[in-house]
Amino acid sequence: MDICCTRLSAALGAQVSFAGQAPYGQTSSSFWSVQEATLAPACVVRPTAAQHVAAVVSIALSSSSGEGCRLAVKGQGHAPAAGFANIDGGVTVDMAGLNRVAVNHDASVASVAAGASWLDVYRYLEPFGVAVAGGRNGLVGVGGLTVGGGISHLSPRVGWACDNVVNFELVLASGRLTNANETDQPDLYRALKGGANNLGIVTRFDLATFPQGNLSAMTTANDIQERAGVFDAFSAIANATVFDIYASLVTGLLYNSTSQRWLISSSAVYTRPVLEPAVFARLAAVPSIAQSFGLTSLAALADEAPNPQMYWFFATATFAPCTEVMGDIFDALNTTLYAFDPAGGVVWNIAFEPLPSIMLARAGKRGGNILGLGPTDGNAFVVLLSAFWSRPSSTAAVTQAARRALAEIESRGRARNLLKRFRYLNYAGPFQDPISSYGADNVEFLRHVGEKYDPTGFFQSHVPGGFKIPQRV
Ligand SMILES: Cc1cc2nc3c(=O)[nH]c(=O)nc-3n(C[C@H](O)[C@H](O)[C@H](O)COP(=O)(O)OP(=O)(O)OC[C@H]3O[C@@H](n4cnc5c(N)ncnc54)[C@H](O)[C@@H]3O)c2cc1C
Repeated sequence: MDICCTRLSAALGAQVSFAGQAPYGQTSSSFWSVQEATLAPACVVRPTAAQHVAAVVSIALSSSSGEGCRLAVKGQGHAPAAGFANIDGGVTVDMAGLNRVAVNHDASVASVAAGASWLDVYRYLEPFGVAVAGGRNGLVGVGGLTVGGGISHLSPRVGWACDNVVNFELVLASGRLTNANETDQPDLYRALKGGANNLGIVTRFDLATFPQGNLSAMTTANDIQERAGVFDAFSAIANATVFDIYASLVTGLLYNSTSQRWLISSSAVYTRPVLEPAVFARLAAVPSIAQSFGLTSLAALADEAPNPQMYWFFATATFAPCTEVMGDIFDALNTTLYAFDPAGGVVWNIAFEPLPSIMLARAGKRGGNILGLGPTDGNAFVVLLSAFWSRPSSTAAVTQAARRALAEIESRGRARNLLKRFRYLNYAGPFQDPISSYGADNVEFLRHVGEKYDPTGFFQSHVPGGFKIPQRV
């Protein structure tokens, strides 16, 4: 038996499981993508207290000459790339059992154990009449989303999800459990807001809450011939001089290689109970195939049915909002993807999400983050280029087509001088380098904080998954 797993098993008993045992199988089946699910760790640890996480790191550190002491840290397993939160032959630390949510005396701060899902959090907070900035799909993990930034329905109001962390409790590379906040280790606090899994394993997030009642949600699907009207409406919202801070919008281009049909759809959420708010009137007026409006709660909206595990591709780019660049993106995608139909088919979803400068301005609060975006960068929108397919034999071809499509949309954006440096870490493909896109100063700051709190580089060498701190050249 693997030496690291043997030692972990001796220390943590039934929290450590092996292939063929039920808890090990539960972890494998809880990954969102097949690529992650099919990796085979030597053992899985499912901690139920922060002290167990500290024990895992201490044991891994003291056995660190062994290959088996390489760790993967898993929240809710929604990062699609292989090896980000699971590991072949190493130890997968599945945080999902650490999912307790609590509030302080006046419900102004929610303490969320790092393995929780956003749905766990929203459901708990609803009776208190408050919410936090978190994922739009409730099945996504608090852990991965928050340490990578986090775009929320509430972001125009309160910034990235990470901007609303008032305190991180985490296990450092030394195995010590500590806290980082505005007054206690403020450099570590700032670096954790975008620094992913490079500085420690977060065991608890203390999150600022906001009063939140019902919100309104509109979904609309349009024939692809109507795209110019949709792009116009999206750009007007995303590039408004005064962005409506209650507006949250995702517009997606959908393409199925088997039916060879494009569709354009939007999910427009208004975080106040206002049916058909003025900000979405132009979008709602574009002739649609289907449209629905309704009032709902954040928890109900986030309560999406789980999808069957599929192979997934994610990659991202950021642009300044403009109707023409969206048109260019569609043309580039149509040119590269239309005739591509691998065995078993592939479904593309290219999502556009505003990053208004008013949201980026919130980064300055609570000591800042390291994402490298501020209000002077102006309005922007993020593109998430994603694809899913079912046959492993199609993986190489889909990846090649997706990377070709990404290169093409970036080149069109560059030609208009509207392509931005920023690559959103939580949407980035494993071949991208989102941490470098934070800018040289932020990368240097992250290196400095890494060297201070993890002098032996444990989280660089022994937690290989995810985006690592770029090395000095
Ligand atoms: C269906 C879907 C919907 C999404 N919706 C949104 C959205 O609305 N907004 C948005 O911004 N993003 C969204 N995302 C992207 C999402 O933020 C990332 O996929 C994120 O990594 C998921 O977090 P997780 O904990 O579930 O993932 P995991 O795969 O478990 O972890 C992702 C990475 O974070 C690290 N990590 C996890 N927990 C910890 C921890 N406690 N301490 C240190 N490192 C940790 C892992 O090691 C791993 O490298 C969505 C993704 C999917 C698939």
